[in-house]
Amino acid sequence: MAPGIPDEVMMDGALIKQLAEVAKDEALRLGILMRTKESPNSSEVVTYAPFTLFPSPVPKAVFLQALAVQTHYNTLVDRISQDADFLQEALASTVEVDDFTARLFKIHQQILKEGGSRSVVLGVNRSDYMLDQREDQASSLKQIEINTIAASFGGLSSQTPDVHKLILKMATRLEESRLILDNNPAAGLARGVAKAWELYGSERAAVMFLVEETQTNIFDQRYVESELWKRNIPTIRKRFDDVAKTGSLDQDQRLFVDGTEVSVVYFRNGYMPQNYISEQCWDARLMMERSLAAKCPDIHTHLVGTKKVQQVLARPGVLERFFPDQPEVVEQIRATFAGLYTLDLGPEGDKTVAMALTEPDRFVLKPQREGGGNNLYGSELIQELNRVKGGSERTAYILMDKIVPAPVQNYLLRRDAPLKLSSCVSELGAFGVYVRQGEDMLMNECVGHLLRTKSVEHSDGGVASGVAVLDNPLLV
Ligand code: ADP
Ligand code: MG
Ligand code: MG
Repeated sequence: MAPGIPDEVMMDGALIKQLAEVAKDEALRLGILMRTKESPNSSEVVTYAPFTLFPSPVPKAVFLQALAVQTHYNTLVDRISQDADFLQEALASTVEVDDFTARLFKIHQQILKEGGSRSVVLGVNRSDYMLDQREDQASSLKQIEINTIAASFGGLSSQTPDVHKLILKMATRLEESRLILDNNPAAGLARGVAKAWELYGSERAAVMFLVEETQTNIFDQRYVESELWKRNIPTIRKRFDDVAKTGSLDQDQRLFVDGTEVSVVYFRNGYMPQNYISEQCWDARLMMERSLAAKCPDIHTHLVGTKKVQQVLARPGVLERFFPDQPEVVEQIRATFAGLYTLDLGPEGDKTVAMALTEPDRFVLKPQREGGGNNLYGSELIQELNRVKGGSERTAYILMDKIVPAPVQNYLLRRDAPLKLSSCVSELGAFGVYVRQGEDMLMNECVGHLLRTKSVEHSDGGVASGVAVLDNPLLV
């Protein structure tokens, strides 16, 4: 029998109820945890991070494709981050109208003007994909976006395989339980951070996690902290406000926060406008960028993750700029691109507007935002495009082909939500980590994967935004 969860299991109400209870207990036992909305800054009461009862089928070939292309994406992101002319040109129209991107861009320019920082480069990114399934064609891997800052769930996703293995065994699907892959992105991430810390060359200097005001997803980060402490690498957790109040640079540009020297700044915050609650937060970001500490990501790499850069990369000939002698790499990366269209002022952008308004359901309208819940679809897309189409405001957006995966039935386990069978689609992410010192790439790896699944009722995604849940691929 082909791997997958048969209907007789899926429809057995009593069994499902029992499995759901076991699954939640096992998740808690293994540390698949989140703080609650009610008390996001205390661990006195915690809950399980939402996840699927069963793993979701993913074709083995596309899964391997996503992992295989990841080191090339690492190289691409790193090369773009060093190409100031490219970033300037790619983001020129966006920074005119998008205040947030403009502020990031200003810091980027300031750092360049000051001669750039001499620090080690530490990159952690997650390239996310959906499987486009058109009629009876084979599914094809299409990139949704690449996250170059605060890519999360590398910790919790190291524990979810064991829950799914157990549930499959209890459902007497032993064969399938063997197909669940082990996964540990947090360990790979910590290896990259540890390398950067080592290159900084001071045992006492800490790795600083730059964290949110509201820390619901703290356990995911604790996995990385724990891996670092195992190596005797000290870690501290600080908010923008802490850095603003107690941070300083010495004459060698060494960063000190609250008396502790910082070797690596690992950003788990700072990707949304509302993360910068005051001018002091922006000052703190600039200070960190100026410092000798390795930034994960640095401001240049942060900008590479914008949707606008993604769209420009899909233009003919652009990938070749970054891989002039490697047509096979270009081909491998380009194979994962969906259709992406400019909304810049001019005939090409006009064409995009006309195309989107004619067939709105074929597209997604995307602003330069992160964290889920910002994209526009269907009637909202029409409304917004009609509002902005006549002027420069439209250049804050890009247009993208909508990816339509084949739905799969599953149960989404979520606190306080009724247990019901849902029609779901999944998004597969590959985690990349790299470390560069000067010209030398000292590490360039794909360190694991993430599968997130959501009900088809939701157009947008994101676990933190309460739509998607954690999952595991069942390779078929
Ligand atoms: P964010 O940076 O906010 O996560 P994404 O580009 O990942 O932005 O979009 C958020 C969600 O919207 C994705 O997780 C996915 O569910 C959905 N989405 C984004 N782009 C597409 C697309 N081209 N086709 C179908 N769904 C998409
Ligand atoms: Mg994103
Ligand atoms: Mg995303």
